[in-house]
Parts: sequence; structure tokens; C-alpha cells
Amino acid sequence: MSNAAAWQSLEAAPSLWRATANDLRSLPVLHGDKQADVAIIGAGYTGLSAAHHLAKSGLNPIVIEANQPGWGASGRNGGVITAKFRLPFPAIAAAHGKAMARRMYEIAHEATDIVAELVEAFDIADAALTRSGQVKAAHNQETLNYAVREAEWLRSELGDTTMSVLDADQVREETGSAGFVGGVLNAGSGGIHPLNYLRGLANGLLDRGIYIYADTPALGLRREGDGILVETPQGTVRARQAIVATNSYSDLTAATAYYRTTLIPFRSAIIATDPLSPNLAASVMPTRRTYTETKRMMRWFRMVDDRVVFGGRGAFGKKDSPAAFRALHKAMVGIFPQLADVPLAYRWSGLVAMTLDSVPHVGRADDRVLFAMGYNGAGVAMASLMGRYLAAYARGETPDVGLLDAARMRHVPFYPLREPAVRMVAGWYQFLDAIGR
Ligand SMILES: Cc1cc2nc3c(=O)[nH]c(=O)nc-3n(C[C@H](O)[C@H](O)[C@H](O)COP(=O)(O)OP(=O)(O)OC[C@H]3O[C@@H](n4cnc5c(N)ncnc54)[C@H](O)[C@@H]3O)c2cc1C
Repeated sequence: MSNAAAWQSLEAAPSLWRATANDLRSLPVLHGDKQADVAIIGAGYTGLSAAHHLAKSGLNPIVIEANQPGWGASGRNGGVITAKFRLPFPAIAAAHGKAMARRMYEIAHEATDIVAELVEAFDIADAALTRSGQVKAAHNQETLNYAVREAEWLRSELGDTTMSVLDADQVREETGSAGFVGGVLNAGSGGIHPLNYLRGLANGLLDRGIYIYADTPALGLRREGDGILVETPQGTVRARQAIVATNSYSDLTAATAYYRTTLIPFRSAIIATDPLSPNLAASVMPTRRTYTETKRMMRWFRMVDDRVVFGGRGAFGKKDSPAAFRALHKAMVGIFPQLADVPLAYRWSGLVAMTLDSVPHVGRADDRVLFAMGYNGAGVAMASLMGRYLAAYARGETPDVGLLDAARMRHVPFYPLREPAVRMVAGWYQFLDAIGR
């Protein structure tokens, strides 16, 4: 098959996750008028984890989802689990002091721990959760020095014991690629089958008697009496409080328009190869961890059942583009030349939600509406954790969420210009990466 034909035939292919996921039980559309303590909008990790933690507190949640649970980023992501924010901990300490950096470090680790807790509580064996560690592989000496300084800072200032520095030979043994000058191993990271995790949560909530309505978009969110009324095409939910858990898909309807302008959506894309032959499989990422590069337009990779799964920046704008997938393929072959002739089986993409301060935000929009979003491309663990904090806010508590406090969230100035601005900045970063800077 020619390359062009191969790209075209992949156009309609589902993601690797959808092709290999367990079934989700069939869910009703919401009809009629329902009552709940908390109405949750969006059935990704944020919404489902919030539902779980609310129910554990004795509150009655109802979840409504515009599509099917996991339709958003929670069913499309890379399944890489890391205890970090886009904003590095030393930068947090420099700007906000060491106590804040320590609190953020605790939150990041609480997030990776909660994934394991939820997988166990919901008995989701086929989430295939591993804590096998992550290698950050440096493409030049400057970025290696930076990564090493960060690891040393974490050890000396926060007592971190999970990071170790690798030389070029060790990174070659770890990755099977000669393209890196060294790296840092973070033993606390891991990987998961993201959609099995999501569907395991959804099925488990249904088993616990929690209502999840699919194909039920929130069209309006109105204050009514001492509560809130959520309007959907064929019914309503009246609740004391609502949780908005729509993250990078907050522009699906006008009901969540307020949140849209706090986020800069950025398309992230993934390709997955056919299963490799045993010899080839043994030569690529033999330590079976997850891996990232230090380039500005960061790419990441992992092995899943003897397939290479490789991700990075996707197309600009609303749709996938063959060119973005081709660029990913080229980058993969640049790192692993032995994969040049291996066919791709899957390619897909989704939107990540960046924020102006590079951290997510959680808390109250007003006395009746709560939200958590803005995971900056690292939300598998963090969104799972935000469900716990959202439940705490709904109970009237004020958890210490450090820099994630909703009060710190800013709206994007000149919002209509965000797309050309993202394109311009990304183009500059790509140029710097291309010349090895
Ligand atoms: C391609 C890709 C790769 C990624 N890789 C990683 C990774 O490896 N590791 C990592 O940690 N993070 C990764 N992420 C980020 C991570 O997936 C997200 O941060 C996380 O899934 C966010 O979860 P969520 O529940 O907040 O949002 P989502 O999972 O996006 O859920 C939001 C839901 O809200 C629904 N919705 C929207 N509007 C309405 C409405 N009006 N009414 C009802 N429902 C509505 C949507 O249909 C959607 O299902 C990746 C993201 C993408 C797109």
C-alpha cells in the first residue's frame, strides 16, 4: 500500500484504546426532571472521580455526559502517569517559596497514588496500571544539565528519592535509541490503559447505584431557588450544587462558555504501530517504562503489548491533519530507525487544556458551582485527584490546594487571538528544536 493510501485508510480507524477496551455498560439518555445533591457535567476522570468521592461522603450525585463517558481526553490520552505539573517545582519555589513547592509536590504524589487507590477500589485489573518509572531522555547537553539540576534540587530541597541521573549509555539501554546524551529516571511514574480505567470507573459507579446519563449535554446552567438547574435537551437536573468537569471540551455548549476563556486548547496526537516482531520488540524500550524527550515540542513514547505508542503535538485547529501524524511518524523513526517499515495501526488525537500559569485549577466559580480543569496535558492522575477535592468543596470544606486554587485562575486575554498565537509560539519552538537548541 502506498504511504498516502495507508494514511487515508487510517482516517477512520479508532484509537488503540477503543479497539482494545472493555465494554461500557449501555447508558440511558436523561428524560424528565431529576433531583440530586450535586449535578456533575462531564464524565471524564474529573467528573467520575468527583461522583465517587461525593457518594462516599453520603451525597447523591448525578452525572450527565454530552457523548459517552471517556469520549473526551480521558478516553484518548497516552496513559502516562506522572507526579508533576507543567510548571517545574524549582520554578514554583522561586516564585512562591519552598513551602508552596512542597505542597504542590505532595499534591502531585497524592495524584499518582489515587490512581492506584481507584484501580483497587473499583477492581479495574485491565487498566493494566504499572508503576514502572519514566525516563526523561535529553536531546542535548543543555537540556540534560537542566533535567539533572531539577532532579538534584528535588532530592536536596524536598527529599525526593525517586529520581536518578542516567548517562548516554544507560539511556540507550533504557530506550533502545542512540539519539540521547543522557537523562533522568523518575521511578514513581507509570502507565495505564486510559479507557479501561475510565470505563472501569463508570461501570463501578453504575454498580454502586450512581446515575450516569450519556448523550445528554448540559445546555443551560441556571440559579433557581437555593440551588441550580441544569437544562438538557430532554430533561433537567435540580441540585444544590453543580460541578463543571468539561476541561478542554468546555466549548461543546454555551452552558460552560465561562470556562472556555480560561483555557488554551492544544491538539495532542498519538500513533500506534502494529505489534512488533519479537526481535524488534526486544530492541525498543526494553525496560518497558514510559519515556519523554526534553524538546520544547515534547514527544513521549511507550510500549503497549509489543506496539510502539508515540505521541506529541497534533494539528492546529479543530481537526486532525495527516501532516501532523506524518510529522509524528517521522519523529518516531528519527528516534527508532528500526521502525521505519513497521506499519501504523492507529492514529488519533484530542485536545489538552493549557492554562496561563501552567497548572490546573479547582474550586468554586460561585456559591453553587464548582469546577476543576486545565491539566496542561498531564491529567490522568491529577483529574482523578481533583474529584476528591471537588467533593471536599461540595461538603463545604476548604482543602489546601496550593497554586491550584480557583481564585488564581486567569482568563486568556484577547481570547479570539489564541489560535494564531499558539501557532506562532509552537512554530518558533519547533524551529528551535529543529536546530537542536
Ligand atoms: C491526545 C492526548 C494525550 C494525553 N496524554 C496524557 C498522558 O499521557 N498523561 C496524562 O496525565 N494526561 C494526558 N492527557 C490529558 C488528560 O487526558 C486530561 O487532562 C484528562 O483526561 C482530563 O479529564 P477530564 O475528566 O477533566 O476531561 P475529559 O476527559 O475531556 O472529559 C470532559 C467531558 O465533558 C463532556 N462535556 C463537555 N461539555 C459538556 C456539556 N455541556 N454537557 C455534558 N458533558 C459535556 C465531554 O463530552 C467530555 O467527555 C492527554 C490528553 C490528550 C487529548
